[in-house]
Amino acid sequence: MTEPYSSRRDGMVVPPRTNVSINKLAAVVRDSFGLTGRKFFPIVELYELLDELVPGASFEVLEPHEMGDDHGLTRPDRGVISLRSDVYEGAFNGRPRDRFTMAHELGHLLMHRQVTLKRVDPAAPPKIYCNSEWQADKFSSYLLLPTHLIREYDSLELVAADFGVSYEAAQARRDDMKRVTKW
Ligand SMILES: [Zn+2]
Repeated sequence: MTEPYSSRRDGMVVPPRTNVSINKLAAVVRDSFGLTGRKFFPIVELYELLDELVPGASFEVLEPHEMGDDHGLTRPDRGVISLRSDVYEGAFNGRPRDRFTMAHELGHLLMHRQVTLKRVDPAAPPKIYCNSEWQADKFSSYLLLPTHLIREYDSLELVAADFGVSYEAAQARRDDMKRVTKW
């Protein structure tokens, strides 16, 4: 099945992943590029090296009329990430939401290959940790905002500025840290 993942749809049912395992995966990505201590994660530059993470993987930038409402679209089975041109340019210019989208799509590429896909039935939604969109959002959050680097911050505004994320993303990550005590 070649159903693509989209950041703008309700998601697919995928095998469960815990916060801890997603966090570990994000840490592996950082470590493998020597970026463990980097605050502003160079997600745009990393896309040039997708092939080193997933052999054969690539990305393409498509025009809005080709992408429609989709900011990004990943076909893990083909190893291709499609980005809307304004999203790619936004991320290139450091726009927080677009950087988050690129990290989110990377999460799909890394986590959702070779999984059996099934659309979420809104009438009987799966557990949140089995939802592809929840998993990709978590991956993006952990990749852009590693616990060890943001732990010392008091100001969410400073986190947002230093890490190139939105205030809301910084806040969600801090709330997540309060809930998840075991790393
Ligand atoms: Zn998505």
